[in-house]
Amino acid sequence: MPSSETQTVTAEMADAYSAWLAGFRQRALGADVAVKTFDGALAGVQPDLGVVHLAKNQAEHTRTTEDYVSRAVSEERLSNGRKKLEELSSLLGNLEARYGVPRTVLVAIWGLESRYGADPGTRSVLRSLASLAAFDARRARFWEKQLLAALRIVEAGDIAADAMTGSWAGAMGHTQFIPTTFEAYAVDHDGDGKRDIWSNEADALASAADYLKRSGWARGLPWGWEVTLPAGFDYAGSGLARRQPMEAWKAAGVRLAGGRNLPDAAGEISLIVPQGAPGPAFLVTRNFRAVLRYNNAVPYALAVSHLADRLGGGGPLAGDWPDVVPLTRAQRLDLQRRLVALGYDTGGIDGILGTKSVQAIRSEQRARGLPEDGFADAALFKRLQTERIDMTNRSGDNTQ
Ligand code: CA
Repeated sequence: MPSSETQTVTAEMADAYSAWLAGFRQRALGADVAVKTFDGALAGVQPDLGVVHLAKNQAEHTRTTEDYVSRAVSEERLSNGRKKLEELSSLLGNLEARYGVPRTVLVAIWGLESRYGADPGTRSVLRSLASLAAFDARRARFWEKQLLAALRIVEAGDIAADAMTGSWAGAMGHTQFIPTTFEAYAVDHDGDGKRDIWSNEADALASAADYLKRSGWARGLPWGWEVTLPAGFDYAGSGLARRQPMEAWKAAGVRLAGGRNLPDAAGEISLIVPQGAPGPAFLVTRNFRAVLRYNNAVPYALAVSHLADRLGGGGPLAGDWPDVVPLTRAQRLDLQRRLVALGYDTGGIDGILGTKSVQAIRSEQRARGLPEDGFADAALFKRLQTERIDMTNRSGDNTQ
């Protein structure tokens, strides 16, 4: 693949960038960024077309949950995580006491975000965000908002402009906070006057703990449990949108994987089947939702949760993952078009199977007498490509 890094900035692009920069400078100064901060951070910075290329060619989400979790919870990540638990035992104990988030969860997030600080990203965040704000028109407002926050962070003295490094999309340091997240949640744990998530493990881990606590993490409550479901279980009750007390799950015949009774637990609890009805099932609490606030993807939250369990001495998952073929983007778009044609609201035809699309899939599964798990893979897609026959208008004529 040709390196986009070497793509040159044409005279035309240079002009467009200068025009954007002049306009943004006025907006930033109007938003109380000091002239000295702005010019110190961005004067002379040339656009990085590599990040623009990355923004416009983001990898498709075609990995299964199984694949994501098994890669995330690798032997290497487990063994490095155990080392960190040991090395930072006293800090982690303090954070646990202060924020109520278990040390294993903090270390798991750290491991997923930056491989325990080994992979925090080395690009200039200011340069990346300026390039994206200037050339990624679709999300220009988002990038400008992040860039403005980045300038305020520099102005606050947390980090020097040239030391503010991160991923191509501006995710920074051990915890991979984007600038607005940094402003909302970063913590100066060691009290040196700087919120340093780049090189200070105490600040970084306290910041992750602060984020989770303020996202609703409840002290002493597990994230959830792997469970087994009784024969004939009605999957209409599954999904993050459906919540009920633990007693109701007990009454429905749900048990812990391995067969033991469900524990008592407070609050509203959801059942998820991330790879469809034949795969592993999990009951999840508000703490799982707190991890989703960190990164709104079930495979991510499950990887963090399972990694934390493993770091705490737990074993591998009990359930077998079914073989599934994830939908391509083109198939997801086609699926949404079909669902819309059937009269459903999919929340737009954007290739992203969000809450409304999943609800539409569930309804269509129900209409076809399939397990209503809301999970769409290539096999389901193929079935949904066949025209749905309204069975209520037919008698004894099984055309499916
Ligand atoms: Ca500090």
